[in-house]
Amino acid sequence: MSVIPAPAGIQTGCTEPPPARGLQDDFHLPMKPISTTCPYCGVGCGVLVTPSGEGFTVRGDPDHPANRGRLCSKGAALADTLGLDDRLLHPRIDGRQMDWDTALDRVAEGFRRVIAKHGPDAVAFYVSGQLLTEDYYAANKLMKGCIGSGNIDTNSRLCMSSAVAAHKRAFGSDTVPGCYEDLELADLIILVGSNAAWTHPVVYQRIVAAKKARPGMQIVVIDPRRTATADIADLFLPLVPGADAWLWNGLLHHLKREDAVDWAWLEAHVEGFGAAFAAVSGLTLPEVARQCGLTEAEVAAFFRLFTTTPRTVSLFSQGINQSSSGVDKGNALINCHLATGRVGKPGASPFSLTGQPNAMGGREVGGLANQLANHMDFAPADVDRVARFWGLPQTAPRPGLKAVDLFQAVGEGRIKALWIMATNPVVSMPDADAVAVALKHCEFVVVSDVTASTDTARLAHVLLPAAAWGEKDGTVTNSERRISRQRAFMPLPGEARPDWWIIGEVARRMGFGAQFPYRGPADLFAEHAALSGFENGGSRDFDLSAILTSLPSPAGKNGAPALLSPPAPPPAREGPRPDFTDIYTTLQPFQWPLTHTGGTPRLFADGRFFTHSGKARMVAVTPRPPALATAAGLPFVFNTGRVRDQWHTMTRTAKAPRLLAHIDEPFLSLHPDDARRIGLTEGGLARISQGLSYSPHGTPPEYRARVRLDAGQRPGSVFAPIHWNGRFSARARVGTLIPASVDPISGQPEFKHAPVAVAALPLAWHGFLVTRDGFPLASFARQPIYWSQIPGQHCHRLELADDQPPAAWLDQARQALGMDQDWMALQDPGAGRYRGALMDGDRLLAVYFIEPKTAGLPPRHWLESLFAKPALSVEERTALLLGRPSRAVPESGPVVCACFGVGRADIQAAIAAGADSVEALGIQLKAGGNCGSCIPELRQLLAQAAPAIVAPPATPLRGQQCASKTS
Ligand code: SF4
Repeated sequence: MSVIPAPAGIQTGCTEPPPARGLQDDFHLPMKPISTTCPYCGVGCGVLVTPSGEGFTVRGDPDHPANRGRLCSKGAALADTLGLDDRLLHPRIDGRQMDWDTALDRVAEGFRRVIAKHGPDAVAFYVSGQLLTEDYYAANKLMKGCIGSGNIDTNSRLCMSSAVAAHKRAFGSDTVPGCYEDLELADLIILVGSNAAWTHPVVYQRIVAAKKARPGMQIVVIDPRRTATADIADLFLPLVPGADAWLWNGLLHHLKREDAVDWAWLEAHVEGFGAAFAAVSGLTLPEVARQCGLTEAEVAAFFRLFTTTPRTVSLFSQGINQSSSGVDKGNALINCHLATGRVGKPGASPFSLTGQPNAMGGREVGGLANQLANHMDFAPADVDRVARFWGLPQTAPRPGLKAVDLFQAVGEGRIKALWIMATNPVVSMPDADAVAVALKHCEFVVVSDVTASTDTARLAHVLLPAAAWGEKDGTVTNSERRISRQRAFMPLPGEARPDWWIIGEVARRMGFGAQFPYRGPADLFAEHAALSGFENGGSRDFDLSAILTSLPSPAGKNGAPALLSPPAPPPAREGPRPDFTDIYTTLQPFQWPLTHTGGTPRLFADGRFFTHSGKARMVAVTPRPPALATAAGLPFVFNTGRVRDQWHTMTRTAKAPRLLAHIDEPFLSLHPDDARRIGLTEGGLARISQGLSYSPHGTPPEYRARVRLDAGQRPGSVFAPIHWNGRFSARARVGTLIPASVDPISGQPEFKHAPVAVAALPLAWHGFLVTRDGFPLASFARQPIYWSQIPGQHCHRLELADDQPPAAWLDQARQALGMDQDWMALQDPGAGRYRGALMDGDRLLAVYFIEPKTAGLPPRHWLESLFAKPALSVEERTALLLGRPSRAVPESGPVVCACFGVGRADIQAAIAAGADSVEALGIQLKAGGNCGSCIPELRQLLAQAAPAIVAPPATPLRGQQCASKTS
């Protein structure tokens, strides 16, 4: 390897690494349950993992304060996702397997070469809320401290950076003031822009349980889309997309007019309220209703509820954050809480829900380009403090590029070396085709990840295999500031390594061995905690330093030591006490800031904030419309989000067939009236297009998906999931249709409001192919314009549709599958019908059906169930080519209850037979009896099926119940 001279300020020469801990050389399978944390959403549920036969069982940890034993369908299926298929197990350079030394040298050399020639701002890291805090800390220190550039940003930019900015404007710090216990103490819970029933299911189930225990508790759901979350709403407000600031500004004015403002609190603890009230003065209720597309009665009902209910928690999420005015919307909401003194009190707080498992941890270490480290900014005093703590005078003096700007800089050649860790921006970024092109032309792209074939990994020069959940150790922080351990319970497969180790090895090769002396994640956490307390003295919200001076107590629950009050702390730079690893190993969940008496559930009830004045700030907000409006030719508002059983770009959740059984294809949901108007029908295929985003080769991007009619969809709006991507479907990367419009303060993209055109996909035929072992798509003579693959438990299905007449399908299937045996086949070319099945004795190997219309195709779930059988009966063989289930194999339909695999048809049959409540369905079918994530859907089926005999659903019509209760 040629040695590139290091630029000024960068040390050269390798330091011998310390012996690493946490690389599992002496790994033994655990003999007792391992207490760890779910790797999916920001709820941060504790799980217990127990070896079981050849695998593991996963259950909710009853002692974890976030979930108290509950898990949602995703958490409950974690054990199904541990397989090594599509795992990246060895380093690769330009597609060829390499040893670690060569790969790490290549990465260090690539970055050093660019830095030497173009300076530190010509390189960047793009990281992820999937990283553990220790990994994040290492990445941030390498980029901001060692390299001296602020160019490290995280995919959390896409989900909650507007909430961060709103917190900092209001509180002077990025602090979530409340905790989950507040959900049980509140008398009013407002969910704004959050489908928590699907995205934060255990938080939602806590609210459901609280309402059941105290039916007087009121729930308001504010969302353009009537989602499963509205199932428990006393008041549902389907406001115009993007109008949130009008509603909260109107409420602020109403609070003043009704003399509901806590003036004494404002005078003592808040500044800026004069300007904030002036900005909303004269905003009448009719005007608010008009701007929000709500009735005056609905708006009045909401205002009355908020005004008269001191214990109010306002949960907000992506519907607020993912907006070109997301920061203002967040502040408009927080203004109302500040005006009434409802901040950090039991049952009374604004509450930002974080999306990813460690979005909060990333914020804490400085994973965002505009934060330095440990909640410190780029103020000169902060830069100086961090530089002295790290011993790195070249520490970045200014913020780096935020995600959208960062990838634009890659595209323009200003950033020439990029390291992407644990994320898939070719799918998840806005203007995603532009991101793909930028990476293709980038001089040097490194991807460290778990999965070998993501859309992003395919574009890397160097691929580094990272440890996955269950193989790595560290900490994560959930939405309520609770830090929990993730613990390894499996050996590292192949040559996979933890991210902190990979980063440290690159740092060492770049000449920063002295700054990366870590033996394992405990050392990293200890340094992180020490920095949090360094010259803090109560001036910063984030402080964990008390942990460094704690001593293990006698065994507590699960044999874990608790934190005890210590004597005087040692100076932070002395590093951890020798026994810190023991404390870290058995660390129990706690909420920061940590003091010598323990964690802190709530902040700010004392009226002291982290601004210069010590007062909170109300912000004058002027509502702004979304960046891009609908127009002739682009008449629909495109909204994107998550579904119940998938996570991000499906690299993990698609491994669990039961999680794909709920929704198995990319879809587009729209109101039935809109569908009728433009000629779309349930189950048909649609395309969404627009010409505002990057168009590779001049072809505007398209999203192609299955149509779902949804009366809960606001007319004029359509919704699609963010999960499907180039691995699973032909054109399902919704990011390609999201223009790169961002909030000017936070840089968060507007994922909830893109103007688009929607039309039927013109098709000549529909069909599907099911095989035992998958299929090479590339071997099709012509790739159909729509395909979507659905891995199942016993077989794989490929849904297909094309705009050209079908080929001779028997030959096509033989060729594509390489199965030249004797197929049972029927074909009617004149009618465009083809059917075929291949048997191995009595065992089904493959089957295909091609029809001119979707309605002619047989039920998939029935066909798939035939693959689970070792032998088909004569009756089943006959039914197979007839395309109709025999009586012996009833169709159970798409799975509604993922935990117990209960299908929609079975539920409908039970309802028809007399099951008239969720409880009755639970007794009869077990449906809804575990995680509860499917209960809103069970209620919908009950309501749809037999309204005359079923008790009315919990949700009233828009506004009616509350209007009568509060008038
Ligand atoms: Fe995991 Fe579900 Fe809990 Fe989120 S709610 S942390 S996905 S179990």
